[in-house]
Amino acid sequence: MLPPHTMPFHNPALFARNETMMRSLRDLLGSYGLIDQPDQMSGYAADWSGVSPGLPLAVARPASTAEVSAVVRLCAEHGVPVVPQGGMTGMAGGAMSLGGELLLNLSRMNRVVDVDLLNQTMTVEAGCVLQQVKDAAAAAGAYFPLALGAQGSCQIGGNLSTNAGGVNVLRYGNARSAVLGLEVVLADGEVLNLMRGLRKDNTGYDLKQMFIGAEGTLGVITRAVLQLYPMTPASSTAWIAVDSPSAAVELLRHLRARVGERISSFELISRPMLELVLAHHQQGRDPLTEPHPWYVLTEWSDSMASLDLRAQMEHVLGEALEAGLVRDATIAESLAQVGQFWSLRERVTEAQRAEGAIVKHDIALPLSKVARFLDDAGAFIAATLAGARVIVFGHVGDGNLHYNVLQPRGAAAKDFELAMKAVSRRVYEMVSELGGSISAEHGLGQLKAQQVFALKSRTELRVMQALKRALDPQDLMNRGKLLPHPTERNP
Ligand SMILES: Cc1cc2nc3c(=O)[nH]c(=O)nc-3n(C[C@H](O)[C@H](O)[C@H](O)COP(=O)(O)OP(=O)(O)OC[C@H]3O[C@@H](n4cnc5c(N)ncnc54)[C@H](O)[C@@H]3O)c2cc1C
Repeated sequence: MLPPHTMPFHNPALFARNETMMRSLRDLLGSYGLIDQPDQMSGYAADWSGVSPGLPLAVARPASTAEVSAVVRLCAEHGVPVVPQGGMTGMAGGAMSLGGELLLNLSRMNRVVDVDLLNQTMTVEAGCVLQQVKDAAAAAGAYFPLALGAQGSCQIGGNLSTNAGGVNVLRYGNARSAVLGLEVVLADGEVLNLMRGLRKDNTGYDLKQMFIGAEGTLGVITRAVLQLYPMTPASSTAWIAVDSPSAAVELLRHLRARVGERISSFELISRPMLELVLAHHQQGRDPLTEPHPWYVLTEWSDSMASLDLRAQMEHVLGEALEAGLVRDATIAESLAQVGQFWSLRERVTEAQRAEGAIVKHDIALPLSKVARFLDDAGAFIAATLAGARVIVFGHVGDGNLHYNVLQPRGAAAKDFELAMKAVSRRVYEMVSELGGSISAEHGLGQLKAQQVFALKSRTELRVMQALKRALDPQDLMNRGKLLPHPTERNP
């Protein structure tokens, strides 16, 4: 997957100012490991957030923890800020330069070091692409459950740094739950080795957790010990029509009481989202004959190969139909059909992009408040921005919605984005009033960095700032992202 746009960049003045360090970096990494030519750097310029990248100093591509450590040490000595960079699929601009930093790209650290089936763990370098990790686990006869639309490009280091979610969180938890050990290069270049593959270890602070979800602001993740699970040869997938989001939430409660932890995914999809995808996906087909306002895409799985999960699904969905929770449903008959159902869900990002300007809200709510939020926010947007199209989908099993607003057809993108600033503020207020979060899985990055001051209590901010100061006293690690320096705070 290629980033949506790339922009050539180069900053000769910056380069000249840091000539001594650049010479040391070139000696250390060689010409393959250090990119400073504008035509070669452009491929490291853009992620999926749509933010315009600033001009970095150069791109370093170390191939080992020792090289990462040496690069970060040099940056610390010369006071040059560092931006850790994974697969650049981030939605918050966290891996992009604000201007003047060294981009530290981890893609060359892409070795699966070890799979330990007895301990049910695998050790990987941070630049491994998620799909590569899943394939290596499967080849050894185990399952690594983290799954997201960008898994062909995003890297484990990026997944851990954003505490990524995805479609299997309901059953397996988010990226944080996948980690038993971590290796991190700290802001002064020292290597913090926490690579224990232990499920129980009560010997003080669990330091690895600090770096998960820290978006590269506390150090560079270089290796991880990941938790594996049994394969799930029995599985069944259904596309279900429901009347409303509250019916979907009620259906989840009903299903959980009957099949419990077998439900691995439970995705909510609105009719406008399906129509948008169908308009841009030539092979896409509506799985049901009649249109319905809302859908659920659910996958159940089990490690017992002989279990007839399809028959069980048919029976339980039949009960739900009789109870009036479900309007219609179809169960996938083949792996190809499973793929077709999921492709409708996974193509939404590209379909949205093709329709013009879009403002995204990656939010989480208590499940009991999802329907109320959708009613209130929908009414507010209809009354405020005539013609704006609300596209809703998400991992509703975790209370995580992607609440996206597309520009009215024919409107000027700039006017729409301007008008959306106030609308988004109100949407986020509604989320907070209902006890939700304004960033469920994409992180704060640079897009939402300023909002941390409004989101966190004074005490929370004080502890976060103390942690940042202790680990990165020069404020060099991903400066200006997630937790900007208080002096950078907007009035
Ligand atoms: C089509 C599509 C679908 C997506 N679906 C989901 C989804 O379902 N759930 C979800 O959570 N996200 C989703 N995302 C967002 C994105 O894929 C995740 O945020 C992913 O975890 C980012 O990984 P990356 O390697 O691309 O990180 P990048 O974008 O390169 O970086 C993200 C952040 O992590 C930091 N970082 C990267 N590597 C390291 C490292 N080794 N050490 C320290 N910091 C590092 C960067 O500085 C940056 O702050 C989706 C994106 C796309 C394009």
